[in-house]
Amino acid sequence: MENRAFIALGSNIGNRYDTIMSALKLLTENPKIKLVNYSSIYETDPIGYEEQDLFLNMVIEIQTVLSGIELLDFCLKTEFELGRKREIRWGPRSIDLDILTFNQENIETEKLTVPHPRMTERAFVMVPLVEINPDHHIPGVDKPLNVLLNELPDKEGVRIWKRKSGEGVFEPIES
Ligand code: ATP
Ligand code: CA
Ligand code: CA
Repeated sequence: MENRAFIALGSNIGNRYDTIMSALKLLTENPKIKLVNYSSIYETDPIGYEEQDLFLNMVIEIQTVLSGIELLDFCLKTEFELGRKREIRWGPRSIDLDILTFNQENIETEKLTVPHPRMTERAFVMVPLVEINPDHHIPGVDKPLNVLLNELPDKEGVRIWKRKSGEGVFEPIES
């Protein structure tokens, strides 16, 4: 599995936790994807379009033999299977799967931009990402992720909801 990617998961409609776990299951049931690491789950205030319910967010690290585009297509298919509809931009969604990074590649196509162009300004992405990969550098950015996170405002909008270990441990579904 030669490629390494980080994916952000988010949900704010229906049973958010079950939907996130279903997304994890669908991703890891794909023999071309292997789950390497995962963050705690955070409850976060909506950003961009604020008249909507709180989100659950987490970040996972995977290894995959899929290309970036193939991984995006699989993420979009998984979103669709879990009832994702695109209505309001940044509006409520049963599941959102964003590819944050893919190896150390810069990908810019009509369908896919990696690193995800808005990731470093979003505390709901950076908090779980830094939890599992504090020193990670993303292409084209000098500062490591933990330094970028320290500089971000609005971190109080991101609150731990289910810790990865310790009390309230959760087990992601392994394939
Ligand atoms: P944002 O991208 O600001 O987080 P969003 O997640 O709500 O917004 P979507 O409606 O889920 O946006 O996605 C719109 C399109 O973005 C997708 O159909 C996909 O082709 C494209 N896209 C581009 N780069 C990426 C990426 N790195 N990860 C996921 N989708 C991407
Ligand atoms: Ca998104
Ligand atoms: Ca998305």
